[in-house]
Amino acid sequence: MIQNIQDSADQQAAYYGLPTRVCYCKKCVMSNQRPSSYPEFKHTASRITPTLHIGEDGVCDACRYNERKRDIPWAAREEELLKLLDLHRRNDGEYDCIVPGSGGKDSVYAAHLLKYKYGMHPLTVTWPPIMYTDYGYQNFRNWLDVGGFDNLSFNRNGRVHKLLTRLAIENLLHPFQTFILGQKNLAPKLALKFKIPLIFYGEPEAEYGNAIAETNVSLRDKSYYAMANLDEIHLAGLPIPELTEKYGLTLNDLRCYLPADHQELEATRIEVHYLGYYLRWTPQEAYYYSVEHAGFKARQFRTEGTYSKYNSIDDKIDDLHYYTTYLKFGLGRASYDASQEIRNNHLTREEGVALVKRFDGEYPSRYLQEVLDYIELPLERFNELCEKARSPHLWTKQTGEWRLRYPVWEAEV
Ligand SMILES: [Zn+2]
Repeated sequence: MIQNIQDSADQQAAYYGLPTRVCYCKKCVMSNQRPSSYPEFKHTASRITPTLHIGEDGVCDACRYNERKRDIPWAAREEELLKLLDLHRRNDGEYDCIVPGSGGKDSVYAAHLLKYKYGMHPLTVTWPPIMYTDYGYQNFRNWLDVGGFDNLSFNRNGRVHKLLTRLAIENLLHPFQTFILGQKNLAPKLALKFKIPLIFYGEPEAEYGNAIAETNVSLRDKSYYAMANLDEIHLAGLPIPELTEKYGLTLNDLRCYLPADHQELEATRIEVHYLGYYLRWTPQEAYYYSVEHAGFKARQFRTEGTYSKYNSIDDKIDDLHYYTTYLKFGLGRASYDASQEIRNNHLTREEGVALVKRFDGEYPSRYLQEVLDYIELPLERFNELCEKARSPHLWTKQTGEWRLRYPVWEAEV
C-alpha cells in the first residue's frame, strides 16, 4: 500500500470521520479520504460516511472494479438489457422510460442509445443547474433540438433554492447539495406521477469507488431515493422542523427536495437502473458520441481546478464544489478526472500525479463572485468557512500558506 510516512506521535485530528492515515491507490491518484456516495438527505455535519477502500495490495475498489470490467460478459449483459426493454417498450404513443440529466455527455449518450439504438421512447427530465453556464445551456438545448427529445425541467422557487444552497455551504460547505438532491429525487417522483416504470441513469456510482458489491446489480438501491418518514430527512444539514421554525419555510417549499415516498414506490413497479451495468461505459466515448449525435460541445477553455474541458460543465457552482472537496478531503477536481482517465488508459499514473500537482485546488475565481452574489453569501464569509473546513490531519499552515501534509506527489510508491 502506498502510504505516507506518518509518525503516530504526529497524528492530527481528522474531521468528517475521515481515516487518520492518508494512503493513495497505487494505480490511480485517489486516496482513502474520498467519501463514498451516500443518501444526500441524511447528510449532517456530524455524519460519518464510508470512504474509498484500498486493499492490502494497494489497489482501490474503483480500480479493482475497472479491472473486473474486462471479464464482464458484455454481450450477455446487453441481452439482459434487451429483455428488460422488450418487457417495457410501448408502441401506443406513451413514454416507456425516463432518462434524468441536464444535457451533459452521459445523459445525452444514455437517452440517445435508448431511443435510436433500442427503440425506446424516453422522456428526459431535468433538475436544472443552480446557475447554467452559457455553453451548458446550449448543450441542454442541443440535447433536445439536435438529439430530438421531449423534456420536463423542474424550475424551483428561486428564493427557497438560494436559501437552501447558502445554508448547505454554511453548515456543510457543500455548494452542490441542492443539485444532488434534485438530481437523485426528481426522476422517481415523476415516474410515479406519470406511471413510467423504468428510469435509466448512466454510470454506476461504484465505478468511482462505492462498495464493490453495488456493481453486481443493475438497480440503484432505494435508500438513495426513497424515504420512510420525514424524521430521517436533513436538508442543508438541518432537520425539517428547524427549517420550518427558524427559516419560515413550509413543507410545500421543501417538497421538491425530498425523496419519493417509500410506500408509494413499493406499491408500484418502478425500477431505477444504471445503463452502465449493461453497457461498457467510458466517459470519453460518451463524450465523442454526444458530439457526433447531439451537437455536444466542450468548453472553450480549461475548467478551473483541473485540465479537462468536457466533464460537468453546465453549472457555474460546479467549480466551487470541487474546490470544497479539495479543502475537506484533499482531493480536487484534477484528482477525480485523472483517476478516471488513468483507469481508462488515457493517462499514466505519472502523468496523473503531475496534473494533480499542477491543477488540484486552484481557486475557483471565474464564477465565484457571481455565484456568491446569487445566493447572497459574502465572499469574506465564504473564505472564513473554507478556512475552517480544512481538516488538521490533511493540512498544515507554513509561513502563512496552507499546504497538504501528504500530497500524492510526495507519496511513496
Ligand atoms: Zn485506484
